[in-house]
Amino acid sequence: MLSTIEAEHEEGVMSDTAREGVISERACEGLMMDDFPLSLRAVIERAETLSFRRPVVFRRPDGSIHRTTLGECAARARRLAAGLAALGIGAGERVATMLWNQPEHLEAYLAIPPMGAVIHTLNPRLHTDELSFIAADAADRAIIVDETLLDVFEALRAEWQFEHVIVVSHSGSAPDAALEYESLTSAHEPMDWPEIGERRAAAMCYTSGTTGRPKGVLYSHRSVVLHSLVTALPDTMGVSTHDVILPVVPMFHANAWGLPYAAAFAGAALVLPGPRLDAESVLDLLAGERVTVTAGVPTVWMSVLQAIEEQPDRWDLSALKRMIVGGSAVPRSLLEGFDRHGLTILQAWGMTETSPLGSMCRVPPELDSASTEDRYDFRARQGIAVPFIELRARGDDGELIPWNDQAMGELEVRGPWVAAGYHGGAGQEKFTDDGWFQTGDVVRIDEHGCIRITDRAKDLVKSGGEWISSVDLENLLMAHPAVAEAAVIAIPDERWGERPLAAIVLREGQEASPDDLRQHLTGQFAKWQIPERIEFIEEIPRTATGKFKKTELRERFVQAVAR
Ligand code: ADP
Repeated sequence: MLSTIEAEHEEGVMSDTAREGVISERACEGLMMDDFPLSLRAVIERAETLSFRRPVVFRRPDGSIHRTTLGECAARARRLAAGLAALGIGAGERVATMLWNQPEHLEAYLAIPPMGAVIHTLNPRLHTDELSFIAADAADRAIIVDETLLDVFEALRAEWQFEHVIVVSHSGSAPDAALEYESLTSAHEPMDWPEIGERRAAAMCYTSGTTGRPKGVLYSHRSVVLHSLVTALPDTMGVSTHDVILPVVPMFHANAWGLPYAAAFAGAALVLPGPRLDAESVLDLLAGERVTVTAGVPTVWMSVLQAIEEQPDRWDLSALKRMIVGGSAVPRSLLEGFDRHGLTILQAWGMTETSPLGSMCRVPPELDSASTEDRYDFRARQGIAVPFIELRARGDDGELIPWNDQAMGELEVRGPWVAAGYHGGAGQEKFTDDGWFQTGDVVRIDEHGCIRITDRAKDLVKSGGEWISSVDLENLLMAHPAVAEAAVIAIPDERWGERPLAAIVLREGQEASPDDLRQHLTGQFAKWQIPERIEFIEEIPRTATGKFKKTELRERFVQAVAR
């Protein structure tokens, strides 16, 4: 039998809970408190014994509504776990999911960690190359895939062989050599959960790297449980048994910001929107199901706001208490726009490496009597660290910056649900010797401890909540025979938050059109990652050390956009 810490090492958990020595201290002090494990088993057992009546609503891909309950999902989770165990999935092994926000995904969330395996959520929007790298790096043994995503899966399968493929079929059949989800679950008696140590791996998610390959973050039971508890607090996202929660943020994106687990724990109702996330579909669900809390990236809410402005009386959103918005900066115009309709946005900041919740922007009581202007100014910031999370920032001189809202530095974070390393030991330079993770976000911190992101030290573009690697685009552009140099920068975009712009220096005597270059990128990048704007310039400005001076390019092109 492995000790907890040994087991954790076996699974590669690098969450910030792996501090040795903590466990043995108890004995010396004569403590008699139950060392009950903070495992996700408690979440599912609570869901099935106390919150089993709570609704889980799903809008199927064809638009029809399917109604089930938390109790039914929990019962099916036990059967799914038994089915996976019968296929030979053992402790610490990864089971991938390629699913929308749908009951089967919730069942996988509830089944896989308590059986001792690891749920690895795959993002179907990534390019096949990235996906197959990720599946291989995680050594996924099985995958649960929705029928509507079989084309993405087929392309991925060419590169990585899953031993078991389980298809969630809406038509009742699965392709050859795949198992049908319903047949697998109905063929098995519910599993009795094994004892699981809280420091064992529970879930896994990959984050895009600025350079090199995506990196895996493994969450432990303990980190997910603590994250769920803090997520549910009234001054965090505020999740109660009286809430009806619609996570627009996908369940393949940093555990849908922890909402499915927080909802299951608190016994809140869940509304799972499936693949259709256009403004009308989201609004129909918000109004039709009387949703009280929802969450997603700014891009979604921009189109939702536009739809409300066009038809202000069409949707009754009187039940909606708050919208948690994050993943990219929330423009002040979005806060103001929803306020006009009596709807409140709360900004959150987080990362895959932070499970993801790091900070929430709740206006503190000290600002109760502040002017409207000052309150908006505050709400457009990324917020104050949530309990257990510590934030600090370090300036260019290597010193920690003061909380004076002036000095700027790279944000560092630590806490019980912050990664202490990546799967396989990649990217170790982002973790300091004294246990902090360097985020790559450049911030100012005010006297309330509220952070404001002013820049990004990492070379990435975030479009509609999804990453595009500038460096990968540059490398491929520079592989084109007519291109001497290429620099990709993020330019602000009203709809997507940011879009990539490629500045190109052509080789002497060579020619290439923007379309030629886009064509060159096609195939290696997903369509939405390819820059619309390609600008030809004489030379790329450089820093003293010879690196591309992207700040100057940004000034040049961002101002041009503004003009
Ligand atoms: P997520 O799945 O939460 O988007 P990622 O790890 O993909 O997590 O992205 C994290 C990064 O997204 C942060 O380091 C930051 O650059 C950006 N980000 C997240 N929330 C905000 C926010 N509220 N404002 C500005 N940028 C944000």
